[in-house]
Amino acid sequence: MKILVINCGSSSLKYQLLDMADETLLAKGLCERIGIDGHLTHKPQNGKPVFNEDVAMPTHTEAIAAVLDKLTSAEYGVVSSMKEIGAVGHRVVHGGEKFAASVRIDASVMDAIAECIPLAPLHNPANITGIEACRAVMGDVPQVAVFDTAFHQSMPGKAFTYAIPYEYYTDLKVRRYGFHGTSHRYVARRAAEMLGKPLDALKLISCHMGNGSSICAIDGGKSVDTSMGFTPIAGLPMGTRCGDIDVSILEYLAANTGKDVKELTNILNKKSGVLGVSGVSSDFRDLDAAAAQGNERARLALEMFQYAVAKTVGGYVAAMNGVDGIIFTAGVGENSADTRAAICRYLGYLGVEISDERNAKRGEDTFISTDGSRVPVMVIPTNEELVIARDTRDIVEGK
Ligand code: AMP
Repeated sequence: MKILVINCGSSSLKYQLLDMADETLLAKGLCERIGIDGHLTHKPQNGKPVFNEDVAMPTHTEAIAAVLDKLTSAEYGVVSSMKEIGAVGHRVVHGGEKFAASVRIDASVMDAIAECIPLAPLHNPANITGIEACRAVMGDVPQVAVFDTAFHQSMPGKAFTYAIPYEYYTDLKVRRYGFHGTSHRYVARRAAEMLGKPLDALKLISCHMGNGSSICAIDGGKSVDTSMGFTPIAGLPMGTRCGDIDVSILEYLAANTGKDVKELTNILNKKSGVLGVSGVSSDFRDLDAAAAQGNERARLALEMFQYAVAKTVGGYVAAMNGVDGIIFTAGVGENSADTRAAICRYLGYLGVEISDERNAKRGEDTFISTDGSRVPVMVIPTNEELVIARDTRDIVEGK
């Protein structure tokens, strides 16, 4: 079965077409500036040329139509007709407490995704738009929703409850949800394969470190705690998000800057994190370069990030009463050997020992710990699209 994976934002749409016979990527691409003017980058993986041009996209429906046109065209295509596409899998950001697993989309699922809009007011409406656009262009092709939050629904109450009046949870659904669930699930399964042990017998800690970062404690294949919270701002300091801070700072800043809570929350989301501290960049490559040239605030931002990751990993070792493997993934986790090494230096008390030679490898699933390391440490490039495609296939085939 060939499966189209869609990740829809408010003005963008990322896609991949996968052949699930052997899980190969057939094509991938990106629609940008939807609703403004429109631009499509389409990359077939079969040797045909890349398409990289403006295409009018007044709405997501024209964007999906343009993607299907390229996927089936003689010049840029990878399939002969739309009929070859057996199903569509959508990344949906928030499933609230309604979805603990992926699900085939029908009218009641659409209603439930819409009910979660207050929890993800920027993301869920875009996801709904993407699903509706696919239905408009592709008709009755089965569609599946894969939620970023679903994997974390296994967290126990002691991990997801905030210490605030309980009715804010019962009435307004304020609790820790966690995000990046598809990524944490993918790398945990892959780590079990690499370790040669069943996933349900392992205690794993997955460090997804990209522009957004979160850590997940995975006991027996189930998420038991994670660092992001009610929204993705919580936990670690990130590219531009502040991570955990004292909530009283909001009132203090409102009183002393004249900004309201909305403006300040925007600053905490978009101008904070390593960008805010360094004043240099949200990109860890720029920070590495600036720190190497002696920029003290860039160095501080990097140190804060590494320290926060190490503290969270330590907390999750305690939460699970042990750890059988630590995983690094996403942009920083997969590419920054220095960041990985700095974090692992904090973990010597666990018996973690890194091999410099192994840690220098890039772009493949690999152990970076020495053979003698008491806890194995792995780098596993994440592949959220593959998880979405696998779930979609399994659900459509009734597995
Ligand atoms: P992601 O959100 O997973 O796409 O990760 C994006 C981030 O990965 C970028 O903002 C960079 O900070 C980081 N990144 C990518 N390549 C490298 C690298 N070679 N060294 C350090 N950081 C990197």
